[in-house]
Amino acid sequence: MKVVYPGTFDPITFGHIDIIRRSCEIFGELRIAVVEKSSKELLFSTEKRVELVKRSLEEQNINGVEVDSFDSLLVEYMKKNDFRIFLRGLRANSDFEYEFQMQLMNRRFAPEINGLYLMPSANRMYLSSTLVCEIAMFGGDLTELTSPCVIEALEAHSGNIGRY
Ligand code: ADP
Repeated sequence: MKVVYPGTFDPITFGHIDIIRRSCEIFGELRIAVVEKSSKELLFSTEKRVELVKRSLEEQNINGVEVDSFDSLLVEYMKKNDFRIFLRGLRANSDFEYEFQMQLMNRRFAPEINGLYLMPSANRMYLSSTLVCEIAMFGGDLTELTSPCVIEALEAHSGNIGRY
């Protein structure tokens, strides 16, 4: 079944990987769609975020996942690429209200499109890209939280937080 997992992935973490593994098991295939622009201030450029998603998938031995980026409303991207299901992760407390809003707003634009929500394992429930960036800023250990290529990119970036 064709399913797309949209997000900023700034950068990809083991929380995202958890959701990707679960969805590959359920649906057999997956397209990751990296959002180019966000109302959030982004640390990495689109190209870098896409590259880190691809390299993380390789490092975590996950096959059969396509990676793309887009610069439009999600529903427009989905219609253009013939998707009717998008996937999102749901963490304790933080995601529910926002995802509810997004689902209902997307339905106004495209009633045929539905979002599905997967929960990560308990030890990933409180993991976010923001937290990973903050830990990186202070030189903390990230080995349990994200892939080696992301740690390397964050180290290269440390002390110089801003866009590249
Ligand atoms: P966005 O800015 O679109 O929320 P993110 O890259 O932060 O993009 O997240 C993309 C999706 O991945 C969201 O649905 C988010 O809830 C989910 N996600 C991020 N981290 C985790 C995690 N630790 N566990 C489960 N889902 C997660």
